[in-house]
Amino acid sequence: MRQKVFSIATIGIQIFTLILLTIILMGCTNEDIDQNVTINTSPVNHAPTVNLTAENLSGNIPFYPQFHYWCWDQDGNLDYCEMLSDGKVFVNSSTIPFPEDTVWPMYNTTGKHVIEIRGTDKEGLTSSTKLTYTVTSKPPGVLLNLSKTSSPAPFDPLNGIYLYCYDPENQMIFCEIKIDGDVIASYPNLKNNPSGGVDFYTLPDTVTHTIYKEAGGHTIGVIARDKEGQNASKSVEFVVTTAERSYPTRNLAVADQKLIWPVNCEPGINCSMGYPDLDKNGVSACGYTYQTHEGTDIGFTWEQMDVGVDVYAAYDGVVKWVFDGKYDRCTSFGDNIVITNPDCAPPTGEMTSGSSSGYQVCTESGPYCNADQRINKGWSECIWCFWGGNVVIILHPDNLYVFATRYDHLKKNSIIVSPGDTVKRGQKIAQVGSAGRSSGPHLHFEVWTDWYTPVDPWTPGCNPPWTYWQYSP
Ligand SMILES: [Zn+2]
Repeated sequence: MRQKVFSIATIGIQIFTLILLTIILMGCTNEDIDQNVTINTSPVNHAPTVNLTAENLSGNIPFYPQFHYWCWDQDGNLDYCEMLSDGKVFVNSSTIPFPEDTVWPMYNTTGKHVIEIRGTDKEGLTSSTKLTYTVTSKPPGVLLNLSKTSSPAPFDPLNGIYLYCYDPENQMIFCEIKIDGDVIASYPNLKNNPSGGVDFYTLPDTVTHTIYKEAGGHTIGVIARDKEGQNASKSVEFVVTTAERSYPTRNLAVADQKLIWPVNCEPGINCSMGYPDLDKNGVSACGYTYQTHEGTDIGFTWEQMDVGVDVYAAYDGVVKWVFDGKYDRCTSFGDNIVITNPDCAPPTGEMTSGSSSGYQVCTESGPYCNADQRINKGWSECIWCFWGGNVVIILHPDNLYVFATRYDHLKKNSIIVSPGDTVKRGQKIAQVGSAGRSSGPHLHFEVWTDWYTPVDPWTPGCNPPWTYWQYSP
């Protein structure tokens, strides 16, 4: 083709034409080469592309994996995508992307778990990727506290208990309380408990509270177990002590356990009587009383008091409390109340440890709670307040029936014993007065079976033989 062109043109035209044709022919050169290559016009099918990543690959029961994913096909012919948890499909969708309200898998068992994402296109090409999670479990927990771990007998350790079994993963299946190895409460199957735990703030009615009457050491323990077999436990030791009343060391040298008459007088002859009213009905089978009176009043004249009426310890014992120094000619009780002295006036303010106000005197706080307070109220510290002005309390550790005796309204500065003194039955301790809430000279004498649990010594009746009195008129 190129030789024909050179033969028919002038030189100028030939040059011009040559340039022109060269340009034209150069434009045709590539076409000439490409005519030797075959172009495939049918499209290539790509497999779908999937992606699965996670922020963490381990966690405690119940574990919800936090992951991100996508599933896409560059050819636009995705058929479906699916998510599998441990081989089971939990999301299957042909939409792109997956719905956002997907329910993620939750793992309630420990060990390794697999999440997989798969994409499949309409030509059947598939892509997949997977992640492995490790699920672990925390052991259950227990809390155990007693309000007191040492108490005089009788002691109920479950009074004031603080006890709790729980599992942070709600996997607890068992909780049990033991005292000295004996199961006292057991919760063997907690699977149906929605909280997964059990609360012992209120122990079930079926639990029998063991009341310890003997001294010694004991152990209370609690154990909890979860579904994975992990245990948690705690134990607390508590000690039951003997009260100040010490039965084992009782001194039987005193042949009988009877109280002597605590003053030198003969009822109805040279002293008057007022009897206890412990049932608070205002009536005493033995004679005069007034409602709620808890002692035996032995009355005298002012003249007898001035001469001096001795008061004796009713039984061997140890002096516990002494209050003295109050004005002793009070008439601040009865029908014709006359407050003749501030010491005869009603107390002002609260009953507080060691306080003294008007005719009231209070002990320091200590383990002086009676059985009801110890057992039902769980108290370990108590005070007692007396309205006798000048008062003596004697403990009788060697007496089977009598814990203590109380002597009230004593003459000012007549008390000749001190706390801690050992006294013998019949030993002089003070003189009769009219201190405190008193209408005139008398001895208010009380008999206790426990810390401030008064009893009527005039039992079983008004005539001998009495349970408590050696006295015989
Ligand atoms: Zn009285």
